[in-house]
Amino acid sequence: MKKRLRILGNIVIILAITIVSILNYRELRSKLIQSNENYLANITSFFDRALSHNIEKSGSNDDFATIDENEESSQTEITDQRSTENSNVTQELLEQTIGLTFETFNVLTSDLRITVMDETGKVLADSNFPGDKLNNHRARPEVWGVISGEESHSNVRFSNTESVERLYFSARSTHDNMIVRAAVLMDFLSNAASTITLSGFIIGVATLVLFNLVLHLLFKKQDKHQADLEKVLIKLESGDLSARMEEDRNTFANYRKFAENFNQTVTNFEHDFNEMQAGRAWLEEMVNSLMEPLVVVNNDLQVVFANKYAKTLFNRDIDPIENPYPFVLLTHEDKLDDLCQQVLNNGKTVRKEFKLQVTGRYNAFQVMLSPIDVDHVVVLFNDISAEYEARELRSSFVANVTHELKTPLTSIRGFVETLRNRNNTAPEQVNNFLEIIDIEAARLERLINDILRLSDIERLNNDSEMEDFDLVELLDECLVQLDDQASEKQINLIPSDDPTFLPVKANRDRIKQVLLNLLENAIKYHRKKGNIWIDLKRKGRFVTIKVKDDGYGFDEQSAKRVFERFYRVDKSRSRMLGGTGLGLSIVKHIALLYDGEASVKSIPDKGSTFKVMLKI
Ligand code: ADP
Repeated sequence: MKKRLRILGNIVIILAITIVSILNYRELRSKLIQSNENYLANITSFFDRALSHNIEKSGSNDDFATIDENEESSQTEITDQRSTENSNVTQELLEQTIGLTFETFNVLTSDLRITVMDETGKVLADSNFPGDKLNNHRARPEVWGVISGEESHSNVRFSNTESVERLYFSARSTHDNMIVRAAVLMDFLSNAASTITLSGFIIGVATLVLFNLVLHLLFKKQDKHQADLEKVLIKLESGDLSARMEEDRNTFANYRKFAENFNQTVTNFEHDFNEMQAGRAWLEEMVNSLMEPLVVVNNDLQVVFANKYAKTLFNRDIDPIENPYPFVLLTHEDKLDDLCQQVLNNGKTVRKEFKLQVTGRYNAFQVMLSPIDVDHVVVLFNDISAEYEARELRSSFVANVTHELKTPLTSIRGFVETLRNRNNTAPEQVNNFLEIIDIEAARLERLINDILRLSDIERLNNDSEMEDFDLVELLDECLVQLDDQASEKQINLIPSDDPTFLPVKANRDRIKQVLLNLLENAIKYHRKKGNIWIDLKRKGRFVTIKVKDDGYGFDEQSAKRVFERFYRVDKSRSRMLGGTGLGLSIVKHIALLYDGEASVKSIPDKGSTFKVMLKI
């Protein structure tokens, strides 16, 4: 583009120079012609005066006058005849005068031609040719002009006689029967004009070439700077902030200043950028180290940032900074998208609980959505699964307790009502009813005691009333206590022979509760005739109590739940046997209180093995 402009500019300038040169040439030529006309006018006038002088000097003025008179009065043929008659004198005189004129003017120009004609155009003498060899010149414009009455007439034309171009100037002589014509070569004039014009043209073109050269050098510098700038910009664009422009000392001051300013700006930017990067890295590190999932969602409801924990928890490896993905793909919860939109619309922080699917399970989260700016929302997921579970457990416990309490109470009230309304009830019937009321009341009492026991254990971090005692002895005590129950069902209680003495330090009643609950269950959930094996073992700081029976047993699904509050494998059997559904739950919580655990292995109709580990 720039090159094309330059070429076009050069063409226009050359055209302008050419036009100016042509105009100049024409102007110069016409000026030269004009000045040469004056010069020729001087020559003719000089010739006239020289002729007068020569005539006077030669004393043949009269003869000359005679010629004039004769010529004035005669017919054309006669005049020609007379002229020829006087031609010897006249010719000589004329040639003398021409010679004199030449002597005077030849200093200036050697190509001068002087022609003397009579008033008819007949050549009397010529400086370059013998007069008689030339034809009548009346047809020549410069001659005809004078013949037709003008004082003088000039003309530029091609001479057929000489085959050259000349400027002719004819003037009437004071000797009025003669016409004097002086001529100079035009090529001299033209050459002069051409030389001057050509010089001008050459100077113009040379100036143009010089100008172009300067321009080229300037553009070369500019192009170099531009290329340098482009290279630096490309590097900066690709992230290389170390790129700088060359600060050339030998270049123009404004370029150098520009490069210095540019480099300073980039240096400042690099510094700010590095600081920002460091800040960002720090912030990212901080956000990533958060043990709570955090994501940023844009106004297209796409995740544009997720911290490390969010990626792990929601099982999403994709980096949303490079590949944003829909928020709903992370949470699988449309309502969270709606909340996001709501926060984006009104710019207010919102908190709400959600159960969200995370790697293979559902967790409860307190989700907080806060606007960062008009286009982004930061979403923080606070995992409240434990709290949520406890809450759920509490409310289901309350519901269960209510239900468990209601059943015996309803039964008691029902029988009391019956007794009150039936006055004539048989005494055996009354006793029967009172018996049932007593059983239900005992069940109520057991239930309340178990609930109190459980809440008592749950409240504690460490057990109270610790004492040293022999666990084998405690087991014997329990076996004696349950002997009747076991004998009734023909069940053998078989404690292991080893150890015979196992000293422990714990709350004796609490450990007795564990043994009684396990043994009572083993007897209760057993058909008639069978065995129960009891094994006590110390392993390091832990003591393991193992109670194995060959009773009803239960499946794997129930095995996972038997330690839950109020869970019963067979509800009606448990109720019938006076169970509260809290016995195993109490065992588990006592184990937890002693940094241990409770577990079970059971096979339906084959029996169960309960194992409790206690740090006692
Ligand atoms: P419950 O008061 O009903 O006995 P537990 O918490 O002690 O409550 O036991 C929970 C349930 O586990 C029982 O209802 C019973 O179905 C089952 N279970 C406990 N021990 C045994 C066992 N040794 N054999 C078979 N089932 C048992």
